[in-house]
Amino acid sequence: MAERQTASDQESHAHQVPLPAPTEGPAAGPAVESSPHPARYLHDRRLHPAQRRALARAAGRLHGNRRLQRMLAARIQRTALADLPEAERRRIQVVTAQVTLSDLHSLFSTEVATTTVPLPTGATADFSGEIPDSLRRGLSSVAGRLIQTRALSLNTTTTVALNLTAYGGDASAYRFTYVERTPAGGEASRQVLIERLGATGAEGLTEPQQQAQQARFTQHGFTRTGGWPEAESAALLEAVALLPDAMLTPVDGLTFARQARHPTDPQAAGSYDPSTHTVTVYNRAFAASLARFGTPGALSSPAARAVVHEISHAIDLLPLRQAWARLETEEQALRTAFQEYEDPPGSNRYTFPSSEQARYNRLNQRITAAERALTQARAASGERWEEVAGQHEMVEGGTAAGSNAFRRAAEQDGGVRVTAYSDREWQEYYAEAFSLYITDPTVLRQLRPRVYAYFVAHNPR
Ligand SMILES: [Zn+2]
Repeated sequence: MAERQTASDQESHAHQVPLPAPTEGPAAGPAVESSPHPARYLHDRRLHPAQRRALARAAGRLHGNRRLQRMLAARIQRTALADLPEAERRRIQVVTAQVTLSDLHSLFSTEVATTTVPLPTGATADFSGEIPDSLRRGLSSVAGRLIQTRALSLNTTTTVALNLTAYGGDASAYRFTYVERTPAGGEASRQVLIERLGATGAEGLTEPQQQAQQARFTQHGFTRTGGWPEAESAALLEAVALLPDAMLTPVDGLTFARQARHPTDPQAAGSYDPSTHTVTVYNRAFAASLARFGTPGALSSPAARAVVHEISHAIDLLPLRQAWARLETEEQALRTAFQEYEDPPGSNRYTFPSSEQARYNRLNQRITAAERALTQARAASGERWEEVAGQHEMVEGGTAAGSNAFRRAAEQDGGVRVTAYSDREWQEYYAEAFSLYITDPTVLRQLRPRVYAYFVAHNPR
């Protein structure tokens, strides 16, 4: 019920009182304002004592005013994600779930009874990036609604595309960050930082860009299976466009399958199967969402980010696929060389004359070496092969950071993973972080500087 409050509700937007711009404080009198050293007039013998007292008061006001200006300036600068102290940034996670707002019109329109959605008790909104006063109440309500619907929880950030053209704004990307501020020696407080990142402009690829990316898609031996409507195919090419050839070449030959939903995980947007080197994209990836990744000029759709996430699994797991392929090659080499001695055929058992023993041993040693390499192979995320009940499986291989460079970087960032989904597994953290490295590198650098540095070193763009 708290939701249907009137626009004049004090509590819900007391924080939205427009602040004076830091350069235009109340005038302290032209004579004093124009002097860089107002205090020296106090000793001007030409002045009457009453005039001196008046000037002293004005100087005090000016001094106070300058302090206020500094405070305001500090407050205004504090409203960007980038300006939070590193300790606070390292606790923030990026929202990668779907973000929707069903009633944008009622939050902004002045024609209908406007809905004001309050922020949680004690939380305040701070605005930055040239947001006109006329949009602040509505944007605060957007924040309230995102928090209410759990799209935005404490210590998370999301960028959304809002078309406010009908309400005196424009189509812009806004970043909402709900953060617990914990100043040293001060009291903890909760703030919603609302940043206008800029006009969204044209999103997605142009027709010629799509053709160019389709050419790269084909060059890398990528194929599509299943039904890919044009808009979804465009999102797939948008993801391909984000990745340099140096990242795509190692995963040449990927198949992109399209299915309605994951057989066991209905929330999954996609999956990657290393045994068939196939990325499957589900309906979920294309669900309507206001979420964007990156900044205007380089904004990515949630679908493109989801596809990048899946491709990054393929990049991550490449060493494990290669180790498996080597083992299969060596096993096949022995089968081929000793085909005539296989008894019975297909049994993988061989009966051969002793003159062949040395050759058999050589080939068998190569298999043993490939098996050892398979055991030692590590994905970038630390994932590994493990024999479970006679079958080889890819496993996380313990949850500790260990000696793996990616895991160590993650631990050095404080241990809070960059998205909630990352908590599932190390390889999911890798894929989530990689997808942000590609689609929103600035935010990854600000939130998880060590993980960002890891990718810069290992996967230069
Ligand atoms: Zn994944």
